[in-house]
Amino acid sequence: MKKTTTGSVMLTALSSHRTHCYAWVTEKNEAPFFCKECLKEVILRKGSVRIHHFAHKSPVTCQYGLGETDVHHKAKKGIFEALKTNPNCSYCELEKKINNAIPDVYAVIKKVPVAIEIQRSNITVQDVCDRTLAHHKNGLSVIWVIPSIDQLKIFREDNQDVSRVPKWLECLHALAYGRVYVWSGNGEAIIPIHFDRFTRYVPSKEFYNSYGEYVEVGGYDRTLKDRKIVLPAPELVSIGTDFCSLSHLA
Ligand SMILES: [Zn+2]
Repeated sequence: MKKTTTGSVMLTALSSHRTHCYAWVTEKNEAPFFCKECLKEVILRKGSVRIHHFAHKSPVTCQYGLGETDVHHKAKKGIFEALKTNPNCSYCELEKKINNAIPDVYAVIKKVPVAIEIQRSNITVQDVCDRTLAHHKNGLSVIWVIPSIDQLKIFREDNQDVSRVPKWLECLHALAYGRVYVWSGNGEAIIPIHFDRFTRYVPSKEFYNSYGEYVEVGGYDRTLKDRKIVLPAPELVSIGTDFCSLSHLA
């Protein structure tokens, strides 16, 4: 996977009139812009490689937007734009500050307020816990979305798709009752993925030990704890349309 630089960047900022500016429909001559979190001035970047975004000026002291890569922004913008047109979704906003937390996408889906969090490149178990708890305290359900299947670092072993599931991913899997959601690359469609035990057959062996006793070992499946089988669901699910079936997860 191509390595993308991660700074302290965001898709939206405040104008000097405190209105909401989306980077992709804002022009540089509308400056200045301000970070929603620290209220310091941020710069609009409209390059040709990454999705247009705002960035903190250095030295960066604000944590907001850290670890947001281009793939993170693509997922966030894709989900936001799709939900805005979904009739089940009565309200949708990007990077909306709710008390002390800023979910990537905030949506009211079938009257349920939901925080959609896109996994950041620098995510830790502590981040997952802190952000989930902060949203729950604000009365929001939470759906975590992994922006790209590349994040699972899948490899083939014993003719199966396998991943060395890191702790943060295990944590998301547990929070969603045994699955994680990966952005499909298109709109609000996500791929549910279950991680299953990876086992390897230990062949049976029979022999006599040094005491002359007959010993039989093996003949069972051993679980390898450092890897899991990656099992994607056969069908994609839509955040806005299938939310009832997702909501028990949060
Ligand atoms: Zn800031």
